[in-house]
Amino acid sequence: MRAVIIGGGISGLSAAYYLHRELSRSALDIEVVLIEKGKRFGGCIVTEKADGFIIEGGPDCFLSEKPWAIQLCEDLGLGDRLLCTNEENRRVFILSGGKLHDLPEGFMLMIPTSFTPFLKSSLISLPGKFRMAMDLFLPRKRSAKEESLAQFVRRRLGTEALEKIAEPLVAGIHAGTPETMSLMSTFPRFLQLEEEYRSLIRGMLARRRMAREFAQRRSGPKRTMFMTLLDGMMELTDALKARLDGRSLLSDKKVIRINRPRNNASLNNFTYEVHCEGGETLGADCVILATPVTVTAELLQALDWTLSEVLFSISSVSTATISLVYRQAEIHHPLDGFGFVIPRAEKRKIMASTWTSVKFSHRSPPDSFLLRAFVGGAQNEDLLEMDDDVIINMVRKELKDIMGITADPILTRLYRWDKSMPQYRLGHAEILSRLEERLLRHPGLYLTGCAYRGIGISDCIHDGKLTAEKALRFLKKYGNRI
Ligand SMILES: Cc1cc2nc3c(=O)[nH]c(=O)nc-3n(C[C@H](O)[C@H](O)[C@H](O)COP(=O)(O)OP(=O)(O)OC[C@H]3O[C@@H](n4cnc5c(N)ncnc54)[C@H](O)[C@@H]3O)c2cc1C
Repeated sequence: MRAVIIGGGISGLSAAYYLHRELSRSALDIEVVLIEKGKRFGGCIVTEKADGFIIEGGPDCFLSEKPWAIQLCEDLGLGDRLLCTNEENRRVFILSGGKLHDLPEGFMLMIPTSFTPFLKSSLISLPGKFRMAMDLFLPRKRSAKEESLAQFVRRRLGTEALEKIAEPLVAGIHAGTPETMSLMSTFPRFLQLEEEYRSLIRGMLARRRMAREFAQRRSGPKRTMFMTLLDGMMELTDALKARLDGRSLLSDKKVIRINRPRNNASLNNFTYEVHCEGGETLGADCVILATPVTVTAELLQALDWTLSEVLFSISSVSTATISLVYRQAEIHHPLDGFGFVIPRAEKRKIMASTWTSVKFSHRSPPDSFLLRAFVGGAQNEDLLEMDDDVIINMVRKELKDIMGITADPILTRLYRWDKSMPQYRLGHAEILSRLEERLLRHPGLYLTGCAYRGIGISDCIHDGKLTAEKALRFLKKYGNRI
């Protein structure tokens, strides 16, 4: 029997790793093949090492609260390579009225949990603070109708909290628009907080207490909210690749179509045919698609038009990251935070900037400063039509206005991410149900990746693992029948 996984990003690599791990503990004789279009594995995860700098093209960290990324790192022997953020600089700034303001200490995403810093904050107006505090007294939502992130935040915390905090900080994670983002599919924990505690502030305070108690009881190495690896995120995908090497990792091979065989004899009675560019075809009993959702939709068009149409209804947006390195002596802005985010109302051309060498150690030599800016997303995708040089100059102009940086960078890198940020819009849960229903017609066919049940690295690893488990259950049952 053969299982074929298509797409060698973190989702496909995780699915392949967990499938291999489970198969090695069973007596089943199943070949697992992972096919990747590019020359390298990792997908959006790409780390470049240049002149003592570690530059992330895509994700630069993962959330430790969701345990699957750390678990996988530990399983792969990377436990002692995990790197915490520099907590002494754990401040985030928000641009408001053209100036950077501290996100007051104690904010957990958009929810205040420390009252003195919140009251003293220059970010939110006095009426805005009163409106946010009303969350303590407001009743729970009564209707079962699905809400967007914007509707939810406006209802619980008010418009100012939405525009100045939730929109850049929370919607920014998906590079999305809060008006169309499904709260249930993107941040279900806010809904759970309201259900359980009525007030988000009360709920977050209770959760924070529990987290502190847990941290006190927990032994083992220190963890911070965001974690990465000493040599960057690609250490994780390289380690996965090394575990899988020699076991049919096929790179530089683009899959163009999946269908059922018309003539079984040529492919030993396999259920599916996986066609690659150049004419090669692989037979498979089980196929896991871990490609970006629009690619998945195209690959399945010949097999099931309806399934493909449902997949096309999940849209994605494009972004780019621009990393710039400066001589630290030429930067006069205080470097005392992880960076800043920008609300839409400020009408700037960048969405946010991470001060990478402040956030993490080992990212650049001590006399230099590495930052990166984000461009594109749902609001500003058209900016990505410009040439690299034009985008870099535009970013430099923005940094001059916001941070007063006039120096020339000593190194620049731009990474484009075409349609790589799936948008979980209102109705996303219904789309997932329709996909599940349609997949029942195709035993042995599975979908995993960032477009379905979570966009973060840890979510992708978890989904890859659950998908591998489902595929294995299918293969065991199927194997007993043939
Ligand atoms: C700029 C950026 C910053 C981010 N920052 C963070 C962060 O800091 N923390 C975090 O947790 N998450 C972050 N994310 C989200 C996270 O990185 C992604 O959701 C995740 O990496 C997606 O992994 P994936 O395997 O599902 O998809 P991908 O990484 O897109 O992998 C899909 C793979 O399929 C391959 N493929 C495509 N077509 C074919 C084909 N026809 N045949 C064979 N192979 C094919 C591609 O080459 C690719 O390797 C960020 C995302 C972006 C774009």
